[in-house]
Amino acid sequence: MGIRIALAGNPNCGKTTLFNALTGLRQSVGNWPGVTVEKKEGRLKGHPDVSVTDLPGIYSLSPYSPEEIVARTYLVEEKPEVILNIVDGTNLERNLYLTTQLIELGMPVVVAVNMLDLLQKNGDVLDTGKLSEKLGCPVVAISALEEMGIEEAVSQTLHAADNMPKVARHHYSGALEHALAHIEERVLHELPENIQHWYAIRLFERDRKIADKLGLTPEQLAHIEKDIIACEEELDNDSESIMSMERYDWVGKLVAASLHAAPRQVSTSDKIDRVVTNRFLALPIFGLVITGIYYVAMHSIGAFITDWMNDDLFGGIVPEVVGSWLENMEVEEWLSGLILDGIVAGVGAVLGFVPQILLLFIMLGIVEACGYMARVAFILDRIFHKFGLSGKSFIPILIGTGCGIPGVMASRTIENEADRRMTVMTTTFIPCSAKLPIIAMFAGAIFNDAWWVAPAAYFTGIAAIIISGIILKKTRIFAGDPAPFVMELPPYRFPRIGALARTTWERGFSFIKKASTIILLSTILIWFMSSYGWSEDGWGMVEEMEDSVLAVVGNGMNWLFTPLGWGDWKAVVATITGLIAKENLVGTFGILYGFEEVEETGNEIWAQLAVSYTGLSAWSLLVFNLLCAPCFAAMGAIRREMNNWKWFLFAIGYQCVFAWCVALCFYQIGMWFTTGVFGFWTAVACALVVFAVYMLFRKGYVEKAVKVVSEEQQVS
Ligand code: GDP
Ligand code: MG
Repeated sequence: MGIRIALAGNPNCGKTTLFNALTGLRQSVGNWPGVTVEKKEGRLKGHPDVSVTDLPGIYSLSPYSPEEIVARTYLVEEKPEVILNIVDGTNLERNLYLTTQLIELGMPVVVAVNMLDLLQKNGDVLDTGKLSEKLGCPVVAISALEEMGIEEAVSQTLHAADNMPKVARHHYSGALEHALAHIEERVLHELPENIQHWYAIRLFERDRKIADKLGLTPEQLAHIEKDIIACEEELDNDSESIMSMERYDWVGKLVAASLHAAPRQVSTSDKIDRVVTNRFLALPIFGLVITGIYYVAMHSIGAFITDWMNDDLFGGIVPEVVGSWLENMEVEEWLSGLILDGIVAGVGAVLGFVPQILLLFIMLGIVEACGYMARVAFILDRIFHKFGLSGKSFIPILIGTGCGIPGVMASRTIENEADRRMTVMTTTFIPCSAKLPIIAMFAGAIFNDAWWVAPAAYFTGIAAIIISGIILKKTRIFAGDPAPFVMELPPYRFPRIGALARTTWERGFSFIKKASTIILLSTILIWFMSSYGWSEDGWGMVEEMEDSVLAVVGNGMNWLFTPLGWGDWKAVVATITGLIAKENLVGTFGILYGFEEVEETGNEIWAQLAVSYTGLSAWSLLVFNLLCAPCFAAMGAIRREMNNWKWFLFAIGYQCVFAWCVALCFYQIGMWFTTGVFGFWTAVACALVVFAVYMLFRKGYVEKAVKVVSEEQQVS
């Protein structure tokens, strides 16, 4: 069998960058932790028999987070031939902590100190020889980004895989070594010698997973426990703290011996962070950045191009060209109807928004790659924590701004199951790129292209997440301490144009692909359903759309949405088609409103919409569609992450009911303020607001977790 190289290291140390350099593949690299959740595999360039596995970033081998479990299980169970440990050279102290654990696994380890370019720029000098001597394993300095030292790293790694380097076993302080030796002797002496030490340390830290795996008997566990307690009493600390302090001690010595750091000035990153993460300025700056992004994408340049695409291209040139072509071909009337009023109107309405979407992707890509989004998670964690929410939930949400599916999947990094479920339920509240055309359409048709519509939609999404979070967290099912959120703030970096162009292209392309497949199919279906139905002469093409099957379906359900101000069958049908893909809303409106001829110049669909909606009913429709159940694909992701039908249905139900209530409150209370009309539904809306305020401020459910833990400890 060939050699398997496992890439292990802290989050954001450059593993994926190195993985791509080694394999020639293009996995996504992000300047924030948590980008690689699952392990990825590839072949080493020029060595078809050597595989490389990119593991998720981890800080330690303790089984605290799903990433740590994935990485540890892979290393211990699958036993790759060699571990290539990537270490961020600009953060040696923290990164070497994991290294000390990796070399204890009893497998060949090669340490690659990454970011050599930055070290050189800072004027730091790293003595790899010294570090190698102290660690007892090969050490190479590399820059994954600038592709420096990679060949050397590869040859060292391949060499180490065949010739296990002699690892100088580190000796901890007397009391600890004493306890470890006892544990090894009591329960581990039958295991191969090179892994005894690691197992002893795991048992010393009371790692239940390892104890179970070794199949220790209660008597053996009791014996070990005595050794641990003896050591804890001697050093007056708990075993896990003892272990980590000893490790830091060791790491401190390693760094002192090998790194000659140039005197550090306050870096530009730090200077920026002082402003950006400032207690008072952080939130306003975040608001400005988001508003700025949407302003540029939707309002300024974006709107300009989109207007042209919608009015001239898909509203004029394309239908004309296609129309005259169809006439020349003398196609049947129904077919030309399908093509012109169905496909061109529907798919065209969606494609018209491509420029805006691309601009949004470029700008999201920039704030992501430069490192600002990592700050946002950090800032929001500070605020969230006060409400018992974890900032970790925010990373999926930030990813969800592009597409809800990877956003929902990113929830895997949250170790607390209740928090994870809650994040899965609320992530799709954030407007993803597919919802953008809906926002843009309403902003253009009803709100006179006002700049604030898109940011307002975004902040409504965030508010929905926070309010849901606080309310849910106070219920019994979701109670519990928030997951700890440790996040290293990566330095600000200039985004690479190439990488930015590639991700923008990939995201944009998948949008266009969706328009030409699923949206196309949906529009064909919508057109048929809106053109056929039963009339006096029986089944057939209908004269009036009001007689179509679609109108019958929509009219059957519109009572549900009348209180929200848009009990119009067209809006109801559009909302339903939005469940297939959110862009469908725009496509469906394109078909349903594009049908009738309008006298006014300019965009027909938009003009029609403008007559049919008021600002309030449009906003209510918009909000409902932003918050209700996401598209099929995202629902599938929710289903997979929940891994349970009941939870899945609960999540979808919650989203729909929540969306309905929010839209009701906006519409009814808005009507009350603007027209003074106070009816039954206004009363319901007011009651809902009162209920929500009560749920927000009541005392939460407090888990009796303390007691459970102490009982568990008595058993062990
Ligand atoms: P991972 O989380 O460990 O997979 O890290 P990534 O490969 O996603 O990289 C994190 C960030 O570090 C990205 O912004 C990379 O461009 C950057 N990076 C990676 N290697 C280097 C390097 O050698 N030098 C510099 N300056 N930046 C690097
Ligand atoms: Mg990665």
